[in-house]
Amino acid sequence: MSPVAPDPLIEGYRRFRSQVWPAERARYEALAHWGQSPETMVIACSDSRVDPQTIFGAAPGELFVVRNVAALVPPYGPDSKLHGTSAALEFGVRALKVARVVVLGHGRCGGVRALAVGPPPQARDFVAAWVEVGKPALERVGSSDYERLEAEVVRVSIANLMTFPWIAEAVGAGRLAVQGYRFDIHTGALARIDPDRVTPIE
Ligand SMILES: [Zn+2]
Repeated sequence: MSPVAPDPLIEGYRRFRSQVWPAERARYEALAHWGQSPETMVIACSDSRVDPQTIFGAAPGELFVVRNVAALVPPYGPDSKLHGTSAALEFGVRALKVARVVVLGHGRCGGVRALAVGPPPQARDFVAAWVEVGKPALERVGSSDYERLEAEVVRVSIANLMTFPWIAEAVGAGRLAVQGYRFDIHTGALARIDPDRVTPIE
C-alpha cells in the first residue's frame, strides 16, 4: 500500500492551529464575541499571487475582501441576476459601514489579458462577459501597454463604484473614501492609481 500523500491544505491548517492560533486566540475570540468591524473593504483579483491580507500586512478582522477575476466592479444594476461583487459591496458599505473601499489591481493579470485578447478557450462561459466590465479601459488606452491598461481598469472600477447610489452618497458626505492601487508581482511594489497619475508608494 502506498503512503497517503500529505494534503498541503491540512498540513497548513495544522501549522495554523499549532503556531498561529495560540498567539491569535484572544483576537479571534473577541471578533467572534463582538463581531467584525473592518475599516477597509478591498476588491482584489482572485489571482493566487495577490493576497490583500499579505500585501497590506493586515490582521484577521481588519479587511473585508471580495476577490474576482481582474478585481472588477460592475456598474450598479440591481435585477434578478446574481451579483456577487455588488452583494459584497452592499454588505461592506451599508451593513458593516467600512470607511474605505480599495480596488487592488495587479501586474500580469490574466483577467486583464482576457479583456485585451479574449479569455482562454476553456473558459468562455463566464469570463468573456465578466471582463467586458473593463472594456471602457481598453477603448481608452488600448492593449499595447498592459501596465497602463491594468491601471485604467482600476479607474473603470472606481468610476463604477460611484454609480452605486449609497456609495456616491457616503463619499459625498465624507463617510467613505474610495482608492485604487496596483501591485506589481515581479517587484513587490505597490502604486496608487489616481485619475491622472500613478504614484509609487514609498
Ligand atoms: Zn488578476
